[in-house]
Amino acid sequence: MTNFHTTVSRRDFMKGIGLAGAGLGAAAAVAPVWHDLDEVTSSSAQFKHPWYVKEREYDDPTLEVDWNVFDRIDRTVSVLGVKGRLTATNAAHGALHPEIQKYIDMKKNGRDIEYMKEKFPSYQGPSLRDYSLADANIASRRLGRPDFTGNYSGLTIKTPEDRNMTKWQGTPEENLQTITNAFKFFGATRIRVMELTEKGKKLVYKNESSGKPYNFKDAAKPEDTGSEYVIPNTARYLINYACLEATDHVRQAPGPTYSGYCHGEKVSANVHYFLGSMGFMHIEAGGFTPAAGVGAFAGTTEHSRSAMVGTSYSHGNLFRWMGRVITDMPLSPTKPYDAGIARFCVDCMTCADNCPYGSMPLGDKMWEHESPEEEKVKNYVAGYKGWRLFNFRCPRCKGCHGTCVFNGGNEAVIHNIVRTTQSITPIFNGFFADMEEMFGYGTRNPDVWWTHEVPTFQFDPTYLF
Ligand code: SF4
Ligand code: SF4
Repeated sequence: MTNFHTTVSRRDFMKGIGLAGAGLGAAAAVAPVWHDLDEVTSSSAQFKHPWYVKEREYDDPTLEVDWNVFDRIDRTVSVLGVKGRLTATNAAHGALHPEIQKYIDMKKNGRDIEYMKEKFPSYQGPSLRDYSLADANIASRRLGRPDFTGNYSGLTIKTPEDRNMTKWQGTPEENLQTITNAFKFFGATRIRVMELTEKGKKLVYKNESSGKPYNFKDAAKPEDTGSEYVIPNTARYLINYACLEATDHVRQAPGPTYSGYCHGEKVSANVHYFLGSMGFMHIEAGGFTPAAGVGAFAGTTEHSRSAMVGTSYSHGNLFRWMGRVITDMPLSPTKPYDAGIARFCVDCMTCADNCPYGSMPLGDKMWEHESPEEEKVKNYVAGYKGWRLFNFRCPRCKGCHGTCVFNGGNEAVIHNIVRTTQSITPIFNGFFADMEEMFGYGTRNPDVWWTHEVPTFQFDPTYLF
């Protein structure tokens, strides 16, 4: 079986942090008490977080928000979320900021591959079988992407009327359980819900880059009228269904690995079909809501230094596909949480240190952007104190997905110790951040993948809970 996880014992762990032999008194003063190591692994309940994770109030994730400033994104003046940041978009900005051209050239010249060659001297770059594996995986993408209303061309969803049945009836709590089980069956790992309250609506972009607006209206159904996208006011719930990247193969990143999107697109079609077939709206919101922002509000992930992705206490940065769909199905919203991740990131820079393009912030949380080039054109979401991605530099090489110290399945005891300890005291953070190799996360020589035993269907079973 893959040796992805470490098997560091408790004794090794205490020795590693310099507490073995000195007695546990010092540790006991600052560290949580573990009655049994099983205690820290018992975190698989569907909606119940482990004991060290605290739920917060709705619309109050672990990042400071100035609600007077934080507002719906106007895409006509922001490049955020526009595809091809290192191509068309940045080329346009490149004229204004020549520095950006450097990153366009770096990507064009294969910086991802060069980075891996520098890290692993024996590595020659992707072989034919690497490219074939990545592209063969995409070969199963047939349906494309859904339109605004959540429908696919070439796919007819059977409605309740088609079956001579009535729309599904369930309480918000029952419905949350229903979609959780259905979406997990399809292949999603975490299913969370945020309500589109007045604050929550601020996460829905104001328009697309052409200026066509997303308008909340008293309407019977969602519609793309040609001049506007209509979101009915009865569609009050934004579901976030998070799907994993290939948990083992992602450690080859940066490099050819697109499996998370391939898998996510499959689940997306299942999700849209299921909600439509149950008689509910299923507006595809992936293109006009922020993945990490919704993750933090819905309680899927926490805001972190990695900035491009949200970080989960149970799955680190491995949620590659953060599906978002707006529905009128009555649902019980889930709460944001505090697992200490945002605090841990203050001292940990593992992902940022391993970013081939220097696209991640290395400083403290800020209200502004750490990068002068992005600050100059205000290329970021304003109104929160946190970390922001260097959009102009990042070509989405996926390296940060594989390097977070919170990556790891439930059976990796040491990961649970990291999680439980850091939520209570930050004193070991520096130590944990230095333990990349020992704990078994971080980038790996891509050639290794072809010689070790790989998990069936891309996922190490310890992540599947
Ligand atoms: S932020 Fe992540 S995806 Fe972007 S360049 Fe850095 S490692 Fe790659
Ligand atoms: S690697 Fe460290 S700094 Fe980066 S997101 Fe994970 S915990 Fe935070």
